[in-house]
Amino acid sequence: MTSSKKVQSNDTAVTVVSVMRRYGISALPRNYALVYEFLNATDAALMREFAAIGNAPTQSQLDTIGRRFFARHHAARVAEGAHARIADEFRHLVDLFEQDQSTLQNFSDLLGKNAAGISTTTAPSAEFLNNVADVLSSVTGNTIEKAEVVFRQIVESVQAMEQVKSELDQYKRLARIDPLTKLNNRRAFDERLSSIYDVDQTAVSHALLIADIDHFKKLNDTYGHPVGDRVLSKIAAVITESVGERVFVARTGGEEFAIILHGANLAVAVETAENIRMAIETATFRNQKNGVDYGRVTISIGICLATQASSDEEIYSQADIALYKAKQAGRNRHKIYDHETMLETDRR
Ligand code: GH3
Ligand code: MG
Ligand code: MG
Repeated sequence: MTSSKKVQSNDTAVTVVSVMRRYGISALPRNYALVYEFLNATDAALMREFAAIGNAPTQSQLDTIGRRFFARHHAARVAEGAHARIADEFRHLVDLFEQDQSTLQNFSDLLGKNAAGISTTTAPSAEFLNNVADVLSSVTGNTIEKAEVVFRQIVESVQAMEQVKSELDQYKRLARIDPLTKLNNRRAFDERLSSIYDVDQTAVSHALLIADIDHFKKLNDTYGHPVGDRVLSKIAAVITESVGERVFVARTGGEEFAIILHGANLAVAVETAENIRMAIETATFRNQKNGVDYGRVTISIGICLATQASSDEEIYSQADIALYKAKQAGRNRHKIYDHETMLETDRR
């Protein structure tokens, strides 16, 4: 089974239902939720597992995939209630479609042609409604009026479902954000890092930078934890400003940050690391109210290229070794991972 495209916001229900029919997947709520996630291409492993099961998946295969997927995605479990609501909407749609088998295809074709005709924020245009009424009346043989009633129910179902979907998306966004710095959190980082070892990504050069604040414990001890927190927020902002909004930056631990540079070679990685390091070194950290200056803050950075490792765990641990070497060499500097000099035994 393959997903040809990411589901567009306006035809989620129809696409999910039609995919389930095509592959003979039964109308169980958990199947709707799974196919929904599959079509949204949210999870690389889920895509692979679906691709592997072929065109006639059994319920037990689907359940195995489902258990793994939901174990990976705690947020999806949190949002189980929302999934159930989606499933209800889907079931309602299926009931409507089952009035006439060919209605689904016609409706689906029409949505494809008139993607702008239906949206969650605006009412469908009169022209679009008329088109749908034509389709429905021709396939059911009923009057246009009756067809319009059926169509309005479909529109309401889709809209209710879009509402659930946007709530789910919001959940997913929040589950990936660090509340203090508003950067990506460790979980978002883990996902992004493993994606660079996906089959279609490995041909391109990528780099991982791990940055750790120097002597941060001393700053906490001197000025207190709340000041430490404000410094962390400011450092996050300085890093983001230095690399630009489009670069992936995460807070991966207490006072540790990670930057994933897609399509970057060593020269770009080093330049980026130095830009970050200098931006922090020259930033001022002071109390907005009383003007107390907390002094200079510096960071050390470890760099590892994706080509130097063969997995997400390996690139991370090698960037961490390089970071450790930067600390050892006196801090406020970057080090590039080097297999010759940074042996396993040196790991902290
Ligand atoms: P090094 O240069 O070797 O990295 O020294 P360090 O003091 O930065 O490293 P160490 O690992 O000894 O201490 C890290 C400190 O970071 C300890 C902890 O109090 C502080 N820290 C971790 N998370 C937070 C946080 O969320 N807020 C604050 N304010 N401090 C934190
Ligand atoms: Mg530190
Ligand atoms: Mg640390």
